[in-house]
Amino acid sequence: MTLTRFSFPTPIHFGPGARRLVAQHLLDAGCRRPLIVTDRALGALPVLAEFRTHLSGLDVAVFDGVFGNPTASQVMAGAAAFKAHRADAVIGFGGGAALDVAKVVGVMAVHEGDVLEYVWDHPQVRAIVAELPYFVALPTTSGTGSEVGRSSVISEDDTHVKRVVFSAKILARAVFADPELTLALPPAITAATGMDALTHNVESYLSPAYHPLCDGIALEGTRIAARALATAVAEPVNLQARADMMMASTMGAIAFQKDLGAVHSCAHALSAACDMHHGLANALMIDTVLAWNFEAVPEKFDELAHVCGLAGDGAAFVPWLRELKARIGITGGLALRGVTAAHLPRLVELAAADICHQTNPRPCSAADFERLFQAAM
Ligand SMILES: [Zn+2]
Repeated sequence: MTLTRFSFPTPIHFGPGARRLVAQHLLDAGCRRPLIVTDRALGALPVLAEFRTHLSGLDVAVFDGVFGNPTASQVMAGAAAFKAHRADAVIGFGGGAALDVAKVVGVMAVHEGDVLEYVWDHPQVRAIVAELPYFVALPTTSGTGSEVGRSSVISEDDTHVKRVVFSAKILARAVFADPELTLALPPAITAATGMDALTHNVESYLSPAYHPLCDGIALEGTRIAARALATAVAEPVNLQARADMMMASTMGAIAFQKDLGAVHSCAHALSAACDMHHGLANALMIDTVLAWNFEAVPEKFDELAHVCGLAGDGAAFVPWLRELKARIGITGGLALRGVTAAHLPRLVELAAADICHQTNPRPCSAADFERLFQAAM
C-alpha cells in the first residue's frame, strides 16, 4: 500500500443569507479595507449593490475588471486596485472567472513580477513566500466550485493559452456559499454551469486515482445534482433547487482534487479553439465521452445509475444524461454551436495535450479524441 495524503481544509458557511456573515467575519479577522474582485457584468447588477449593503463597518472598494476568460493583465490591474485602496483583504464575488482572479490578486499585491511567473509549469516558477492578504470567496454561480479550489486559471493576453497557478496558499480562508445569490441567473446559464458541476462529480468518481473520500463526495454530489438540476432550470426562484445545485457545485470541486477525465480535456479544447462556455462544452461532450468510457468501468456506471435513481443498471446512465440535457434545453451537437470540420485538427491537438485525460478511466489517444469530437458534432 502507498501512503496517501488527504486535505479538506476550507471552512464553508453554507445557506441562504450566508453573505450577511461576511462583514463580521472580516472584522473578527482584523480586516477593515476589503477589495471586492468581481465580473464586469456583475458589477452593474443589483446583486452586488445588495451585497454591499451588508458590509457596513468596512471601507470597501470594488475592482470589476474581470471578463471573458480572465487574463494576466486583469490580475495585474486588480493588484493595482488593491494597492491603490491600501486594502487589507480580498472578497472574491462571482463565477469561476472572478474567483480565479480574486485568488491571485492577493498574491500579486504582495509579490514582485507578473502573475504568469507564478504558474506551476513556468521554467523558473517564482515561489509564493510572503503572507497573503485575507481572502474570502462568494460564488454567484453553481458550476466551477472555484471557491474551494487551490488553482487559478489565467490566460496569456496575446495567445489566450490558459495557465494555472496551483498552490494551497491561494485557498480561500472562508467560503460563504449563499444560494440566494444565484436566484437571478437565467435558465441557460443555470443549465450550462449545472452541467459543469455534474460533470465534475461524475468524472472525478470515474477517475482511477485512489481517493475513497472524494469518491463518496462525488457520488453524493451526483445524486444531489441529478435531483435538482432540471428543477433549478425550470423554476429559477426555487431556493431548495438552487441550494442543492450550489452544494453539488462545491462538492464537485472538492471531489475533483482527485482529478478529472477526457470530458474536461475536450471542454478545455473547445473553450480555447472556439471560445465556448466551459459548462456548455462539457454538456455537449459528456454523453459521447461517457458512452465510450462505459466498457472500461461498467461497475462504476452501475453506482452512478443507482445514485441517480434509475431503474436499470449502468447502461441506463448515458441515456438518462441525454434525456436530462434535453429537459434543460441543451439540444443539438457541436455543429449547432459553430464548430466545423476545420476546427477538428486544432481541437484534437489541444485535447490530447490537456492533462485531465491522463486520469480518464480509458486511455484516450489523439485518434480517439478525433472520433469523439466527430461523434459529438
Ligand atoms: Zn469544469
